[in-house]
Amino acid sequence: MKVNQAEFVISAVGPSQYPADALPEIALAGRSNVGKSSLINRMIQRKNLARTSSKPGKTQQLNYYRINQDLFFVDLPGYGYAQVSKTEREKWGKFIEQYLTEREPLKLVLQVIDVRHPPSKDDQAMYAWLKHNGVPLCIVVTKADKIPRGKWQQHLKIVRETLGADKDDPMILFSSELGIGKDELWSLIEDRIGY
Ligand code: GDP
Repeated sequence: MKVNQAEFVISAVGPSQYPADALPEIALAGRSNVGKSSLINRMIQRKNLARTSSKPGKTQQLNYYRINQDLFFVDLPGYGYAQVSKTEREKWGKFIEQYLTEREPLKLVLQVIDVRHPPSKDDQAMYAWLKHNGVPLCIVVTKADKIPRGKWQQHLKIVRETLGADKDDPMILFSSELGIGKDELWSLIEDRIGY
């Protein structure tokens, strides 16, 4: 996809604020700091549209970015942030769960994982929950530039095994730094939104 226009639309704190355009939505899930904003910026070739390293986990909002008149990227709040209280976490859970299970325009969830470490308990729980609820997903393993090329396959295997991922779940190696995986991810997204 050629991105001609990309703009931040809204930080939605509830369903009444979700855009009504009915464009397909691609959501990003992952722990705080995993590299979700950087991934969005790389996909649209802009340095700073999506906010990188904003205070993680503090706010429960969905950040909507409109790409051309074709789709939205929806950045979900990072999970697994230790300083959030249990009550906060439960509230987070309800809000996000509702979005992920009930949002009609949602076409695909990108579950973003750091290539350097085996998926955390939170990553595993998120994956299992998405599968259980039949939410279409793609595992995006990012920060590929942080490990030597010769170790990529081994790390991807660990990610797949630790998540307990199905063979047919798409998995894409990515680097926001170098642009690795960008074209492959766009192809998958275009396919899922019927572009
Ligand atoms: P978010 O909290 O998930 O939105 O994470 P950010 O996009 O803010 O990224 C967190 C940190 O990781 C920042 O310092 C980014 O520069 C860095 N980062 C993200 N993606 C990559 C990547 O692919 N390669 C490298 N080397 N650093 C990355």
